[in-house]
Amino acid sequence: MREGMTMVLVDGSHGEGGGQILRSALTLSMVTGMPFKMVNIRANRKRPGLMRQHLTAVTAAEAVCGAHVEGAAVGSTELTFRPGPVQPGDFHFSVGTAGSTTLVLQTVLPALSLAHAPSFVTLEGGTHNPMSPPFDFLDRAFLPLFQQMGPRVEARLERCGFYPAGGGKIRVAIGPTPRLGRLDLLERGDVRAKRAIAIVSALPKEIAERELRVLESILSLDPSCLRAEEVRHAVGPGNVVSVEVETEQITEIFVGFGRRGTLAEEVAREVASEAKEYLDSGVPVGRHLADQLVIPMAMGSGGSFRTLEPTPHTWSQIALVKQFLEVPIEVRSMGDGQWEIRIGD
Ligand code: ATP
Repeated sequence: MREGMTMVLVDGSHGEGGGQILRSALTLSMVTGMPFKMVNIRANRKRPGLMRQHLTAVTAAEAVCGAHVEGAAVGSTELTFRPGPVQPGDFHFSVGTAGSTTLVLQTVLPALSLAHAPSFVTLEGGTHNPMSPPFDFLDRAFLPLFQQMGPRVEARLERCGFYPAGGGKIRVAIGPTPRLGRLDLLERGDVRAKRAIAIVSALPKEIAERELRVLESILSLDPSCLRAEEVRHAVGPGNVVSVEVETEQITEIFVGFGRRGTLAEEVAREVASEAKEYLDSGVPVGRHLADQLVIPMAMGSGGSFRTLEPTPHTWSQIALVKQFLEVPIEVRSMGDGQWEIRIGD
């Protein structure tokens, strides 16, 4: 922690009121050196307080910057985090349950991307979790944009981990940059490809094939762009279906998770409607990418992007950034469902 820095007070019940406010506060604290005290952690969730995934994010942030931490325990609703200098290195973080590895990675990635030497991070837990970025989204949607800001990041999926069994593993190599560069995504250009991938683990392949048939018909996909995959080495059963839209400027990925009591066709229809909304809107940046880009852009050289109506997650990110950084952020509705977010001058 830098001398004389005032403690930021973060209220976890504001806005979205979930785990993301905590992870984002950790990220911003590591990068700015500002300590924070968080109260009402995950106050808007059914079971408030820190769960394993959030606790792993705290432990990971602590390891990366040698922080002094109080309140890091499962169920805790208050946490104090005093960061030290970021130390690159070889890290291994295990969520211990099917908690999301990608969310833990996103917590420490910005700080390690600005360190003075490369880092290697191994994460174990869930790799394809509902309500979190699945590995493919991290690898093909988020990281290519993050790399456009300067760092070199390579992520490898070693083993899939599905909810609830977990047991997945990813490895990430981070080549840092002195400063994150500007990112502008106001146009997406022409659609180059639309692909659908359905994967199953310890479940009949027919589930994946049924999902693909629905996507093929709703999104008018070419049969050569459909892929059904059986994962052999996962710990438990799982089914994930994703639609990847590659345009000139950006790749977006929409994901659905098979679940007990919901027909495969219904899971596919949900994904198709998300992808269709995005395709029809003309914006480059989808809802999830929007909230995930705010912090790296705000701590770097800023930029701008067009997206769909901001989610509570995006609004919460913006409010939190303003507690740590003096960076102007402007959000404007442009009509026709398009919104523009400008970060920095
Ligand atoms: P909780 O709120 O229960 O603590 P959580 O810790 O998982 O849950 P959230 O606050 O809900 O955290 O944040 C989830 C993050 O995952 C957000 O950044 C959101 O954009 C991202 N996300 C959720 N679903 C997807 C998806 N399908 N694709 C990409 N990113 C996703």
